[in-house]
Amino acid sequence: MQHFPIFLAVAGRRIVVSGGGEAALAKLRLLMKTEARLSVFAPDPAPEIDAWAADGRLTVIRRPLGPGDALCAALFYAANDDAAEDARVTALAQADGALTNWVDNLERSQFITPAIVDRDPVTVAIGTEGAAPVLARAIKSDLEARLPVKLGLLARVGKGFRKAAEALPMGRARRDFWAEYYFKAGPEAADAKDEDDILENLETLLSDHLARKAQPGRVALVGAGPGDPELLTLKARRALDEADVVIYDRLVAPEILELARREAVLIHAGKEGFGPSMSQQEICRLIIRHAAEGAYVVRLKSGDPAIYGRLDEEIEALEAAGVPWSVVPGITAASAAAAGIGQSLTKRDRNSALRFLTGHDVKGFAEHDWRGLARRGEVAAIYMAKRGARFLQGRLLMHGAAPDTPVSVVENASRIGARVLSTTLARLAADIDAAAMAGPAILLYGLSPRAAEAALPHLQKDHA
Ligand code: SAH
Repeated sequence: MQHFPIFLAVAGRRIVVSGGGEAALAKLRLLMKTEARLSVFAPDPAPEIDAWAADGRLTVIRRPLGPGDALCAALFYAANDDAAEDARVTALAQADGALTNWVDNLERSQFITPAIVDRDPVTVAIGTEGAAPVLARAIKSDLEARLPVKLGLLARVGKGFRKAAEALPMGRARRDFWAEYYFKAGPEAADAKDEDDILENLETLLSDHLARKAQPGRVALVGAGPGDPELLTLKARRALDEADVVIYDRLVAPEILELARREAVLIHAGKEGFGPSMSQQEICRLIIRHAAEGAYVVRLKSGDPAIYGRLDEEIEALEAAGVPWSVVPGITAASAAAAGIGQSLTKRDRNSALRFLTGHDVKGFAEHDWRGLARRGEVAAIYMAKRGARFLQGRLLMHGAAPDTPVSVVENASRIGARVLSTTLARLAADIDAAAMAGPAILLYGLSPRAAEAALPHLQKDHA
């Protein structure tokens, strides 16, 4: 992010605009929405500017900007439609200590003005760092269409009612009340009525909510998928929208955490408060403690929570504590990796069964049915296998697996930086070492990437 978005307090402060033509008019139309004091320096201002000055909405000084004219200005716009003049006045305004914007000159501007959706006091600012004004305009018109015109009115009435709403206990109860106001009762009332009616409506809504019993806490054990936020289920998305507390694992992608409700407390189950790694018991206790306080806890696990996710241990702890729970399945890494190499996990005449294996378990490198796996055509998705690759390779070869059995290693499946290593059982350990993979990686034993198949003639024979 090269530009950091903020909302600047400008009420009563000076904003200076140099220029009196098209560029200045466009900026002034926006600036007049604020409560700033506007000064326009222009030897020959457009008639609109004179009219606004006559209405007392701004002050016109009918000459070019000079030294000291931008003193005490919060913001300055160089809007002369003339590069040489804009350069001159920008230098002067900077010397006066103002933050400067040179219209349509990103490099020479200290700040830029975003595209704005105005539902005062709700304001949406959209910026693309100058990369794609078309995109900003498209987002703006999308939001204009989506946000009720009366949203501003609702927010103004709501703001005045915040104190009264404090009668509700903080947290979930209060949030539910406001959500119902803004997304249901409010828009319905605003369609037909005026400010007083909306206020009356709010009062009725508040007494309804005050009469409700406090909601008990609950827990959703949610699969976050392999990393791409678009691979979240709609249920997972909704759970994140509503969560009071999100307790997440190391592998959950940051882009997904971004989707959690802004007020939600995010807790990294790998760290937070418990040193470098929290034990499973401590995680269970943490989930239960938050649920006992009435929170809606989302326990977010990478991929599918039922695959190498210690799901049962957490469910058993929740059952024992009497906390209501539900599971939201997710797309597991094996599915994302198979999609990444363009292969099916099962295939007629090749493998009618698919195994999920782990490279290591609590006791170290995991033992499996090596003889069964060594048969030609077997397919297995092997999780957590980077470190154990050499062990796995040794065991499989020892039990008669063909050295040329294809293995695809998919790192960061569905994520930015996804990589596919196409290798064979004989070269597996050496190739993994050489690839120096830092991200999570899964092995698809018995599968080669579709594009790579043509380059391996011995495989075509098998699959013909
Ligand atoms: N519940 C998860 C698995 C957790 S075990 C699931 O269903 O996917 C953690 C292992 O999953 C990692 O060691 C790695 O082998 C695999 N994994 C998770 N996300 C991955 C990704 N985006 N790309 C490749 N492998 C991934």
